[in-house]
Amino acid sequence: MFQSQVVVLIAGLFALQMAVVCAVLRRSPGMGRSGLSSWAIGDLIVTLAVVLLAAHVMRPAWPLDAVPELVLTAGLSMMVYGTRHFVGRPGRGMVLLALNVPGLAARAAHAVEHGFSPATPAVAALPEPAVAALTLAASVIQILLLLELVRITVPRVPLKRGTGRLAALSLILVALACTTLIGVLIAPAVVMLVDHRHLPAVTSHDGIIVLLVFGMVGLSVSFALMAHDRLRRMLERRARHDDLTDVLSRGAFWEELEATCKKAERAKQPVTVAFVDLDHFKAINDLYGHLAGDSVLRHFAGLLRRNAPPHAVIGRLGGEEFAIVMPNTTMETGRAASLRLNSLVRATPCPSDPDPIAYTVSIGMAERREGENADAVMRRADRALYDAKLMGRNCVSSHDNGDAPGMPRRPRVREDERGGEHASPDGAIKRQP
Ligand code: GH3
Ligand code: MG
Ligand code: MG
Repeated sequence: MFQSQVVVLIAGLFALQMAVVCAVLRRSPGMGRSGLSSWAIGDLIVTLAVVLLAAHVMRPAWPLDAVPELVLTAGLSMMVYGTRHFVGRPGRGMVLLALNVPGLAARAAHAVEHGFSPATPAVAALPEPAVAALTLAASVIQILLLLELVRITVPRVPLKRGTGRLAALSLILVALACTTLIGVLIAPAVVMLVDHRHLPAVTSHDGIIVLLVFGMVGLSVSFALMAHDRLRRMLERRARHDDLTDVLSRGAFWEELEATCKKAERAKQPVTVAFVDLDHFKAINDLYGHLAGDSVLRHFAGLLRRNAPPHAVIGRLGGEEFAIVMPNTTMETGRAASLRLNSLVRATPCPSDPDPIAYTVSIGMAERREGENADAVMRRADRALYDAKLMGRNCVSSHDNGDAPGMPRRPRVREDERGGEHASPDGAIKRQP
């Protein structure tokens, strides 16, 4: 059945198509070191194996016995190499190459010895046990390569359900199915070898080779899906995160805030938001330059990420303005966290050459009231931030729940002792001595 030219042709076309898919995916940004190039080359080698198989079927006199199988081993090696890169391990190219050399060299030596002439019947020229031994060696190496694929993929199966998990699991299953197929095929030969009997004559491995080609195309599809899933997650992350500071971008932060407010409304849980603005940031830019200003923003975002309460959502709303949503947190707890952050920033200047850059932040806080949406609670936090600025910056101010929206603002009390080693009384930025 498998010697049917059509089936062989379909197997080759599938492999070729997968080579194109991997090559196209590889051109996506960020996919440079994903191992897709190796998989594309692997698929091309598999296509070559199919061409050789077709030639063998059409011209049995040509000395091509066992060659398609050895070529398949080379294709599989490339796939393992690519997968190792994908999971961030060294490719071990030399080891993988070494696995292929003996088989190919032995086969080449036979061909040279007995001639390539199509007129020479290859079956007569090659002793069958030698071909069988080569095929057996290639099969054992294929099993090792497939098991290596499984070994490096298993720890990378994502825990979360989704395309990535499905693709990784299918790669493992297809690899195990191929291993079983080869195992069943070589089992009698291994038994005979153990019994010191002659290896059986190779009647035809062609059907198995075609099945294996389909298996390898299946592996390739699974790997392409894994790579695509990584690409999708990377693009999603880029779309939702701010490039400079790696906290949520404005849109994504707002989505999270709205979702948190709705959830809090349903669960009748408190939510507190903090609106943070770097003080006199324009002066930092003017004094140290915009690149140093960017470093300060990154430094502050790092402090925020490391010191925000658990489950807090952090976003950059624009320029030097950040916000923190603290789910299931009352104003009291949130205020304590904000005071800690305020002191931490004051005490931790941004490392810079030649001098560290000291900076401070003002924080406005509001706790969500019943029925209040994201917009309303952020407006109140913004008013509290405005108060903090009015009170001289470098402090935390909160918008009490007693205030009704739209009420005239009343003066608030600073909630920290202002001042610090590197902040002037009005919070103005000064270069350190
Ligand atoms: P205040 O204490 O009242 O908040 O004063 P400020 O100087 O911090 O505020 P202002 O709104 O006057 O200036 C904000 C500056 O932030 C102006 C703008 O050039 C700078 N800025 C905005 N985005 C970036 C950025 O991505 N990188 C850098 N380096 N600067 C930025
Ligand atoms: Mg500012
Ligand atoms: Mg501002």
